[in-house]
Amino acid sequence: MSLRGELSAHVAAGSIGGVSPLPRRRSIDAPDDPAPWADEDATPLAPLDGDTTADVAVVGAGLTGLWTAYYLLEADPALDVVLVERGRTGQDERGLGACSARLGLGGDALAARWGAAAAREARSVLRDAVVEVGGVAAVEQVDCGFAFGGEVLVAADADALVRLEQQAVAAERWGDETHVLDRSGLRAHVLVDDALGGTWSPEAARLDPGRLARGLLDVVVSRGARAFDSTPVARVSAAAAVTTHGTVRATTVVDTRPTTGPRPTAATLATPPLPTQVWATIGLPRGELLGHSDGLRVVRTADDRLVAGRAPASGARAARTLGSLLTPVRSSRALHEALVDLLPVLADVPVTHAWQRPLAAPGALPSVGVGADHAWARGGGTGPAAANVAGRTAAELVTGTQSPLTSAPWVQRV
Ligand SMILES: Cc1cc2nc3c(=O)[nH]c(=O)nc-3n(C[C@H](O)[C@H](O)[C@H](O)COP(=O)(O)OP(=O)(O)OC[C@H]3O[C@@H](n4cnc5c(N)ncnc54)[C@H](O)[C@@H]3O)c2cc1C
Repeated sequence: MSLRGELSAHVAAGSIGGVSPLPRRRSIDAPDDPAPWADEDATPLAPLDGDTTADVAVVGAGLTGLWTAYYLLEADPALDVVLVERGRTGQDERGLGACSARLGLGGDALAARWGAAAAREARSVLRDAVVEVGGVAAVEQVDCGFAFGGEVLVAADADALVRLEQQAVAAERWGDETHVLDRSGLRAHVLVDDALGGTWSPEAARLDPGRLARGLLDVVVSRGARAFDSTPVARVSAAAAVTTHGTVRATTVVDTRPTTGPRPTAATLATPPLPTQVWATIGLPRGELLGHSDGLRVVRTADDRLVAGRAPASGARAARTLGSLLTPVRSSRALHEALVDLLPVLADVPVTHAWQRPLAAPGALPSVGVGADHAWARGGGTGPAAANVAGRTAAELVTGTQSPLTSAPWVQRV
């Protein structure tokens, strides 16, 4: 039987890749599923129950908040740290499952804002952050499927290949290692019929951001942090986080809520775990992240699902096309069609999860700062590597640690 035939038989029988029966999901026309990173059966943490005090109150328990708490307790295990989250900690990661130093924070954009020397230093910090995330996961035994496979970018036509070659040269200026691949070099990473060549760079990993967040939560709670779900913070004032369930008075409040205002989103979808025979026709054997010149981004998860989304436009292209870009980026059906065009073996594979993932406003950069009684940390919306940098920097600012992070150009003191 052909591979397509075998897959159809699995689908007809309601099982694929050992998952039986297939979970029932809403239509991909109404993409509001949780991402596959959520543990939908988990019991939420109890909300805050009245006023309390702490050394540090961390507002928001996304990856930035969790990393902040982690590094605070690394620096000073005696600190009393409280995390307050309006939703469910570790259950609303909506990213692609990529941990890349490259997303949205290229050397050129950084240099335009802060100059070449700062850009080179910032690129080094971001590259190190990918290694740091994997290192902490290993040391703390957080099983988040971290695989340091790097990122492969595929050019479908000659123009795209020239652009990738130019990007590789530009990346070298900022210390970013990028290898240009011919067609056969590319095939060691991914099997895409129309590919002319591409690039591979090491500073990227795939991971399960939900398992990372829940693992970090377990670590910080085991070290004495107190964490509360379903506790929206209404106001952050001098040395206090005022919630609907009580006030946390703290020597320092670290606010990790993303900036408010409209945020673009992009359609993202996941398949069930796919059989080895299917992956043998796609590749990504080391968990490489895949980007294609038509904008598709693909991740092979630790449990062998395929997660796909479209990349946002960047730089000048984003400024020109953001408005018109949002419609196709938001459409799950268009995404699915583009995915099947690229990887026809997926034509009969069902979609188990379709959701919208957040995108940063073009040019959004990390922002971390500290004042007399409060601090803030925002990763700039570029995924787990930037969240790690933001949380680590915030913890160092609060504990008075001097490091290259605390002198990074995005750090403000007010
Ligand atoms: C451009 C872009 C690229 C991304 N790329 C990836 C990727 O490649 N891979 C990936 O896995 N993820 C990606 N993400 C998704 C995700 O945003 C990041 O990975 C990361 O999780 C961000 O963490 P955060 O803590 O900074 O923000 P968030 O995850 O948004 O966390 C903020 C937390 O604050 C909480 N909060 C908000 N308001 C309140 C309040 N009033 N009171 C209490 N709590 C509150 C929220 O509920 C949330 O839990 C990307 C996001 C963007 C924007």
